[in-house]
Amino acid sequence: MRALVPACLLAASVQASPNALEIDGDMLTAGGRTLRISIAPEIDATRTRMLREWIAEAARASLGAYGRFPLEEATVRISEVDRRSDSPVPWGQTSRRGSVAVLLYVRKGASLEELRADWTAVHELSHLFHPYLGDDGRWLAEGLASYYQNVLRARSGSLGEEEVWRRLDAGFGRGQREGSGLRLDELSPGRRGTMRVYWAGAAYWLERDLALRRAGSSLDDVLSRYSDCCLRGSGAVAPEDFVTQLDRIAGGAGFRDRYREYAASREFPSLDSSYAALGLARSADGGLRFSDRASAVALRRAIMQRR
Ligand SMILES: [Zn+2]
Repeated sequence: MRALVPACLLAASVQASPNALEIDGDMLTAGGRTLRISIAPEIDATRTRMLREWIAEAARASLGAYGRFPLEEATVRISEVDRRSDSPVPWGQTSRRGSVAVLLYVRKGASLEELRADWTAVHELSHLFHPYLGDDGRWLAEGLASYYQNVLRARSGSLGEEEVWRRLDAGFGRGQREGSGLRLDELSPGRRGTMRVYWAGAAYWLERDLALRRAGSSLDDVLSRYSDCCLRGSGAVAPEDFVTQLDRIAGGAGFRDRYREYAASREFPSLDSSYAALGLARSADGGLRFSDRASAVALRRAIMQRR
């Protein structure tokens, strides 16, 4: 979910081309799965076409994870709001009552350029990669969407690779400044500590992605297999059951053990080992430096480039 303040081993043979998005009016299909676009009827035809173009681009970006939509069927509903806001998409939300719908509220008059530059649509579409995890699992859910909203926009070419690492680092920095000392699973259900909830969650998924890549797999592969075996659009899944299932799929990748450690942590998790592997370092002026060590360059590229 986006609030007002920043606010809300698939076999290669069966993986569709990431660009295999078919568009037929309001129906987008990829890998045999459908995403339906529903635009509020009061929006005029010219603007409806523009909003369709925007959401098709975001949907295509979401295919950068594993080449198919996560669910057999889902809907994206777009409405417009009058709200004065700096954001072209002041609110987004994933609804799982009955059928699954991504709800996006676009500021009236927001241009295609503004919408393309905004992260909300890719963030909300990334929530479709996981089941509903309840309040306790909010940090896992928001972390996954925050990680993928950045990674997928690098893979789609809408942001440069280094820019995306900077955005992730800036997010981690915002999370690190949250100093309540509460456990992450105490912060997760409430309205407090949003930045630590989102970005400690993103750090968790980055860390698991790196662990999987060391073993020749990736988070994309594991989520793809989860989509095939287990993902349901509605109905809650206990967060610990979700991560246990990911361990089962990955053949043991520390999802559950690290989940427990993160949930109990009272401060932002250390990024040291992730940054060392990625060849990232914060400089004194707050910028991010990139090592040219071959293994680090290859790892950063593997995460940010479309397969
Ligand atoms: Zn969210």
